[in-house]
Amino acid sequence: MRFVHSLRFRLIIVVLVAILPALGAMVYRGVHERLGEAEAAETEVLGVAQLTAKSYQELLATAGQLLATLSQVPAVKEIHPAESQVLFADLMQQSPAYANIGQSDARGDVIAAGIPPQTPLNVADRAWFQRAVRTRGVTVGDYIVGRISGKPVVTIAYPLVDSLGAVRSVLFVGLDLQWLEKFLSVPQMPPGSVLFVIDGAGTVLTRHPEPENWIGRSVADSPIAKTILTEKREGTAISPGLDGEPRVYGFVPLGGSETGHYLAVGISESIAFARADRDLLINVLSLILATVLAVALAWVSISKAVLNALGRLIEATRRVKAGDLGARTGLDERSDELGELAEAFDEMAVAVKQRQSANRNAEAELKRSYEEMEQFVYVASHHLREPLRKVTSLSQLLEKRYGDKLDKEGAELITYIVDGASRMNNLIADLLEYSRNGATGKPFAEVRCETALGQALANLKGTLEGSGAIVSNDPLPVVMGDMEQITAVFENLLSNAVKFRSESPPRIHVSAEEKEAQWVLSVRDNGIGIATQHHERIFSVFPRIHTEAEYVGRGIGLAICKKIVERHGGRIWFESEPGKGSTFFFTLPAVASARATGKQRKASVNG
Ligand code: ADP
Repeated sequence: MRFVHSLRFRLIIVVLVAILPALGAMVYRGVHERLGEAEAAETEVLGVAQLTAKSYQELLATAGQLLATLSQVPAVKEIHPAESQVLFADLMQQSPAYANIGQSDARGDVIAAGIPPQTPLNVADRAWFQRAVRTRGVTVGDYIVGRISGKPVVTIAYPLVDSLGAVRSVLFVGLDLQWLEKFLSVPQMPPGSVLFVIDGAGTVLTRHPEPENWIGRSVADSPIAKTILTEKREGTAISPGLDGEPRVYGFVPLGGSETGHYLAVGISESIAFARADRDLLINVLSLILATVLAVALAWVSISKAVLNALGRLIEATRRVKAGDLGARTGLDERSDELGELAEAFDEMAVAVKQRQSANRNAEAELKRSYEEMEQFVYVASHHLREPLRKVTSLSQLLEKRYGDKLDKEGAELITYIVDGASRMNNLIADLLEYSRNGATGKPFAEVRCETALGQALANLKGTLEGSGAIVSNDPLPVVMGDMEQITAVFENLLSNAVKFRSESPPRIHVSAEEKEAQWVLSVRDNGIGIATQHHERIFSVFPRIHTEAEYVGRGIGLAICKKIVERHGGRIWFESEPGKGSTFFFTLPAVASARATGKQRKASVNG
């Protein structure tokens, strides 16, 4: 399927389409030439058939004249069989076409013959005899096998009539049709040509070559005989012959007989069309050769000119995609459109590389200033603590020593100072913790999440017991990470789940699922849920979603979780619906060989 859409395939189609008109013209010419050759062959065979028929007619006429002349010879006229016999034998020497010459008496008994019969012979049953007696004129008989000569003959009869009009004797000459064979060797007739004579009933009178196989057979059903017997006149046809082989035929009626004789001459179709077929074959072969050459040329040139270059472009693109920005096509020497494309690609790769290094610098710069800022926050918080502690302790001292000397308003003001200083202290402590979590951290090792969760539960024992929470978990995996930090994540999420509980006692479930070489851990609760408008802020430092009166919180728990998870190359998010609880998800890198092995835990604290 891919090949069908390839450039090569399309180019081959273009070549083939370009060659189609030439093929059409060639086939048209071939057909035209064949038609011309068919016409020429038809003219030729018809000419030979006509020539043969003419000779045949002449032979008949000559035979008729011979008999008329013989009828005037005294020995014949006076019926002297012995003398006549010698004369007939002499005459037979003159022409090979005469199978026999003879004379019968009025009853049909043969009384003299060039080739005498072995036993007495009567021909009164012959159609030619009866017709000659009836018509008293020259008669051409139908085809028969001569009883004396044993050859296929057409007999011509001539009655001798006395002065009273009575038939005294009948002269006859048998014409040997095999003599027609000589017409097959006229120059127009190529080897493999045939000639046959059939009578009106479709019986073969003679056929050359192989007369012995055909003479006397009825071929009325063969296509060519059918055509001839339907037309009953001179014509041509391209048709299977008596033997089934296709030939170009010319046929003519041979007059003279009662039922009608037809002579046909045929040349083999393969010979008749040999030149046209050969020319067409040569043309088609040359066109095929030209097509193959054109396709090969197209194939080679597209490979050389386009596909190789495309291959290099594709390879360079893949290398760039894989991160190798130094990859170049190496096609800059080309001056065509592909060269331009390659140049543009190379320029793009250079630009991407430059941009990447600029990005890296910017990233490093950003990281550096972030670290500086963290460091600043850490140092500032650290340094602020000391004077703050002093403010706190001095105001507490002030309250203690001079509290009773101050009026009500003064005492209240001191309480505010103490309270404010203590809150500020907590804030600074939180900030310190947050920045410490980024700066510190142990190298990663295999961490059993079951253990981390157990530690977090132990740290929160009091809180959990106080709230009547029920914590359960699925088997948890072993991951790559920092044990202390993963424990902190569990601790923050669990304490939030308890802190933001609803009316009913907290139900918390921890589970894990492996996805694409990572573990997705989740902590699900049945608490108050999180309103949509807070979704954005929830992972930032001090999100200020609730007043202190509502919930006591430091506002850095989730920010720390995010920082830790991101340090592990993971991500943290949640799904929640107000009033229906929340689920917090976070991903941690899987250990290739490690799988969840822990047993199901059903921890029930105060439950
Ligand atoms: P804190 O809990 O100290 O306020 P956090 O960073 O841990 O700070 O959480 C930020 C805010 O996210 C919370 O004030 C609360 O509004 C919301 N929150 C966190 N966890 C939950 C929870 N399990 N259910 C409902 N709200 C939550």
